[in-house]
Amino acid sequence: MQPTAFFVAGRPVHGDGELTVHHPYDGRTVGRTTHATPEQVEAAVAAAAGVAAEAAALPAHVRAAALDHVSRRLAERAEEIARLITAENGKPVKWARAEVGRAVSTFRWAAEEARRFTGDLQRLDTDPTATGRIALVRRVPRGPVLGITPFNFPLNLVAHKVAPALAVGTPIIVKPAPATPLTALLLGEILAETGLPDGMFSVLPIPNERAADLVADPRLPVVSFTGSGPVGAAIRRAVPDKHVTLELGGNAAAVVCEDWNTDEDLTFAAHRIATFANYQAGQSCIAVQRVYVHEWLYDAFLPRLVAAVEELRTGDPSDELTDVGPLISAEAAERVEAWVDEAVVAGATIEVGGRRDGTSYPPTVLTGVPADAKVNAEEVFGPVLVLTRVEHDRAAFTAVNDSAYGLQAGVFTHRVDVAFAAARTLEVGGVIVGDVPSYRADQMPYGGVKGSGVGREGVRSAMDDYTEPRVLVLTGV
Ligand code: NAD
Repeated sequence: MQPTAFFVAGRPVHGDGELTVHHPYDGRTVGRTTHATPEQVEAAVAAAAGVAAEAAALPAHVRAAALDHVSRRLAERAEEIARLITAENGKPVKWARAEVGRAVSTFRWAAEEARRFTGDLQRLDTDPTATGRIALVRRVPRGPVLGITPFNFPLNLVAHKVAPALAVGTPIIVKPAPATPLTALLLGEILAETGLPDGMFSVLPIPNERAADLVADPRLPVVSFTGSGPVGAAIRRAVPDKHVTLELGGNAAAVVCEDWNTDEDLTFAAHRIATFANYQAGQSCIAVQRVYVHEWLYDAFLPRLVAAVEELRTGDPSDELTDVGPLISAEAAERVEAWVDEAVVAGATIEVGGRRDGTSYPPTVLTGVPADAKVNAEEVFGPVLVLTRVEHDRAAFTAVNDSAYGLQAGVFTHRVDVAFAAARTLEVGGVIVGDVPSYRADQMPYGGVKGSGVGREGVRSAMDDYTEPRVLVLTGV
């Protein structure tokens, strides 16, 4: 099996060492690539810095056409890409297809935003001393971006770094996750077809120590990181003066409110929660982890939830019918197993699931979990749900906030006043009403508070993030 090329300044190249990618389900080798050498990393950074001025001057129609091209090519190669995502990440192929579909939209949306990203015109004559003056506020790139991405969405989270960069005309270097570099390299192949200037993008598989050096490089003033809390915190400490966006973890909660009480309501919520606690074996930063149910509804909800979880098909992620595949590695599955066992020792009951098989852990529902158990208080990043009975909706909101994280929350209610109370009260980046916290549209601002991060992603938010305002004041107009 030939190693897959990576990209330095838009050109396919090979480096040294070997990075072998394994299928998380059965451990077979699905591909190889090599690590970028220090010289290749230097070439990528120098090229990005060297092309920055040219990139910023690229006309909007050129940037938009390149983004439209990427969107179209992703759509044309969708099935091949979905199969590759399943092979290196282990997510069921139906979810891999959904991820490709989202990346198609992310690039298409970025093309649209590139066409309308202008800035604004401000009148200054609201103050008598500024009569005859106006300000043109344009947004200019801060400089080349370093995008560091996790394993759980190997395509769309890379798209969320690359598409906004190309939309604003700034070079980007992507460092993909070591477990899942191949999808990012395939995206590199498509980016190379766009004819954008050399240096606009590089995709560099490198060990983490070398990534830390890249983070520190002053020629990359913007660092956009998606990954775990400890690595994000280390990056922030390492470069306090840089413009850093951190999209980190969470232990997302759903609340089933008092008014969400018909048979149809409870069955719907149970299915949505079961699906989105387990849809990537729980390996999503907004997978449902904690569920708070009003005490009047709890006894009716629990059997529905257990039934919905039991309906999920686990197994080979290449199988069309599989709902839940493996975790990314045996260590990840062993950690989930250890956390569940620990909760059981502390008094929790396993309502369904709870027995590891290699890299797979079954969809699991726990009740009676102490608030400080890791499965409740930390990010489980596995197919485990913690169900808790609450006296009233306000108590549920307090419990949601009793967390080191705050990414998104889902609130099942029909009432507008409860929805607004949730939006006012919950310490999160987004509240999803009538659905799970796992809902994300790729154009909306997305990100967290507290331990879940700093800044927002989503195409337009990232474009704002990658640029800064520059004001031109005109006098005598
Ligand atoms: P991770 O933190 O282990 O790795 C993320 C990336 O950082 C990888 O590319 C890794 O190689 C790199 N990295 C590791 N050490 C580094 C260092 N010292 N310097 C620079 N880069 C370094 O995370 P993961 O296991 O790949 O992903 C899972 C985590 O990502 C979870 O916590 C999940 O919640 C989070 N996540 C957050 C979002 C979000 O949008 N908020 C989305 C997806 C995943």
